[in-house]
Amino acid sequence: MKKEIIARTIENLSQNGFTVKFFPDSESAKKVILEDIAPDKTVGFGGSMTVENMGIYEALKEKGVRALWHWKADEGENKRDILKLSAAADIYFSSTNAITESGSLVNIDGTGNRLSGLLFGHEKVIIVAGVNKITRSLDEALIRIKNIASPSNAKRLGRKTPCASLGRCMNCDVPDRICKATLIIDRQPGDSPITIYLINEDLGY
Ligand code: SF4
Repeated sequence: MKKEIIARTIENLSQNGFTVKFFPDSESAKKVILEDIAPDKTVGFGGSMTVENMGIYEALKEKGVRALWHWKADEGENKRDILKLSAAADIYFSSTNAITESGSLVNIDGTGNRLSGLLFGHEKVIIVAGVNKITRSLDEALIRIKNIASPSNAKRLGRKTPCASLGRCMNCDVPDRICKATLIIDRQPGDSPITIYLINEDLGY
């Protein structure tokens, strides 16, 4: 990703009211993320391969933080209960499916927990994303999600969707469709300040 595109994206995100912290690599980002979260906070998670691969959940648990992630449910734990607790957590963690150069955050969900978590109900929302999520326009963001993120997620989840086998969107109408709701955050919404930890690496999908 070209430096000028990253710089323009950061400037536009900041103008749109988001806080942006930029890091050369995930290791340095993780260090700051862990410093930024007080041990007495509860932290909820939306599904994210970026966050998973960085080991943020495990590092927070080690620090003594009450971390709540339905992906990490132990045997006997109810995922729906964890989703509800995450929705009420002090801090909410997620990545984003795309960031437009003009400074909008674009996400598509099947369940919707991540979309609502990004929008409302937390003292702070933390988005961790690699520069591979930056797109030139909203159209490109939607194309990216439907042809990179959603097919990869559908495959990972074993969904019976055309994209899971073809690797591209066929705008399906099957019960397993994972693209059910789209959220575009153009400006910082009123009550849950969003900080984007943008990392100069390709992370997640
Ligand atoms: S609409 Fe269907 S085919 Fe297209 S990306 Fe979503 S789940 Fe896959």
